[in-house]
Amino acid sequence: MAESTLSARWRQTLNDIAEAARRAGRDPDEVTLVAVSKLHPFQAVAELAQAGQLDFGENYVQEALDKQAQEAPAGKIRWHFIGRLQSNKAKFLAGSFQLIHSLDRLKMARALNSKCLEFGCRQPVLLQANLAGEAQKGGAQESEALELGTRIFNMEGLELQGLMCMPPFFDEGERARPFFARLRRLKANLERELGCTLPHLSMGMTGDYPQAIEEGSTLVRIGTRIFGERP
Ligand SMILES: *Cc1c(COP(=O)(O)O)cnc(C)c1O
Repeated sequence: MAESTLSARWRQTLNDIAEAARRAGRDPDEVTLVAVSKLHPFQAVAELAQAGQLDFGENYVQEALDKQAQEAPAGKIRWHFIGRLQSNKAKFLAGSFQLIHSLDRLKMARALNSKCLEFGCRQPVLLQANLAGEAQKGGAQESEALELGTRIFNMEGLELQGLMCMPPFFDEGERARPFFARLRRLKANLERELGCTLPHLSMGMTGDYPQAIEEGSTLVRIGTRIFGERP
């Protein structure tokens, strides 16, 4: 049977990722593809999981939990939460995701930390930065990122693993590059402040992932390129 369009696009995306990494003199294994499946049916997730894709990203808590429930009990999927966070959802988020990419404020960090302590788990998180100061998007301002990052780092229930950003939308991926370089420098500053290294930079989407990889991304979050337009 011919490979489906979905699997073919996924394979092509993996090839593009590896090529961008090699172009930048990086080991392709340093970059993980998070397939962003929001608003697409679990069937599509299951097909890619069957083909070998492990990491999937979701934006909405209820939709993510519904998909998790559809996975077979011994399933291997690593679920990432990449959407806006609400503190009243902390109890559903704590301990339910491989990594939460979008932590961006103290109130949310405290709510999540408190649930993790209550449940006895330690939740890996990234601090999301809003580098262009866009009002409609989540993310901490660059000026507050070091202080907020330090506070999150010191919370027992959370494990800070790095930074995430979503630059303004450009028709040309090349224009997002300066934002990726800024996030990389911000991570270096935060690491100096904390006195330790953080493994992850979550940056790069359908329109700009090659540039993000060239600038040091370790997690690319790609939806449309793999699944097609969202319904
Ligand atoms: C939807 C979404 C993506 C994927 O975007 P595409 O352009 O479809 O690749 C990545 N990151 C976040 C935070 C998103 O909300």
